[in-house]
Amino acid sequence: MKILWKLKYINVYYIVMVNQLLVTLVNSVLGTGKQTARGNMAYTCPHCNHHKPKLEINFTENKEGNNPWHCWVCDKKGKSILQLLRKAGASQDKITEAKTYVKDVTYTTKEKVVNVLKLPSEYMRLDQSDNNSIIKRHALAYLKRRDISMTDISKYNIGYCEEGLYKNMIILPTYDKDGSINYYTARSFEKDAFVKYRNPQVSRDIIPNEHFINWNLPIILCEGLFDAMAIKRNAIPLLGKNIQSNLMKKIVTSVVDKIYIALDRDAIKQALKFCEKLMAEGKEVYLVDLQDKDPSEMGFKNFTKLIQKTVPLTYYNLMEQKLSI
Ligand SMILES: [Zn+2]
Repeated sequence: MKILWKLKYINVYYIVMVNQLLVTLVNSVLGTGKQTARGNMAYTCPHCNHHKPKLEINFTENKEGNNPWHCWVCDKKGKSILQLLRKAGASQDKITEAKTYVKDVTYTTKEKVVNVLKLPSEYMRLDQSDNNSIIKRHALAYLKRRDISMTDISKYNIGYCEEGLYKNMIILPTYDKDGSINYYTARSFEKDAFVKYRNPQVSRDIIPNEHFINWNLPIILCEGLFDAMAIKRNAIPLLGKNIQSNLMKKIVTSVVDKIYIALDRDAIKQALKFCEKLMAEGKEVYLVDLQDKDPSEMGFKNFTKLIQKTVPLTYYNLMEQKLSI
């Protein structure tokens, strides 16, 4: 008992000591702080330089292992003391010393910032009658040929551009579960376009249009956004032939138990690999035989019929299919 008590005491002592060293270090950069009623420390804010010490730092790590700080005047806030020290112009030596006391979360925050995506500035909606330019009529005619209805155009926020990098292209945005844009694809509607598709330079490791997905129902994995629109219900476009890691993680950890895979025949190798992985995770997998027609060419009715005919894949089928490629 005595030893345990001593160990606990040493541990607490160690935390207090690290804390004290960190406070001393921050004091040397931001000026000596004042103890607050909440047991935090208050400093002059390096963002707004308000004359009163209104920047509060929590020196006791929270559950996530961060030290949150917040300025009550300019409302700047963050999770890492390192961020704050960098902003205040601390020397590299001090940053290095601080890194031995606190976790460096600055970089994960930065990655998130890079992923903030906006539609091209030239993006225009297609479901409003504000302009009736010839370019817009071409865009609408293209979508009509692909069997995309006005309802789809509104539902998916499909737009187009008359100028800029995406000139004469349809813009197909996708959104995350909270309805924030997470990707878009641009498809030319010119007859003999030199560049057919153009994609933004952001990560594709997203779940496209998750706000439309009901994870309690079977899901259908297809290749492109036009396919997902043709399938209408619970279809997730892969924006290619691969299941990206975030989507795979989501499928594996969600309650969804039936998964239809509707990929081109030329992607059969990848498709079988995904089937095997998902079956190993205990999911019921249906490999839809598209017979050289993708869902957007086939249309909703024919695709639905095909899905109803498809039976769950067994390990025996899987092996047979693998041997036949
Ligand atoms: Zn401030």
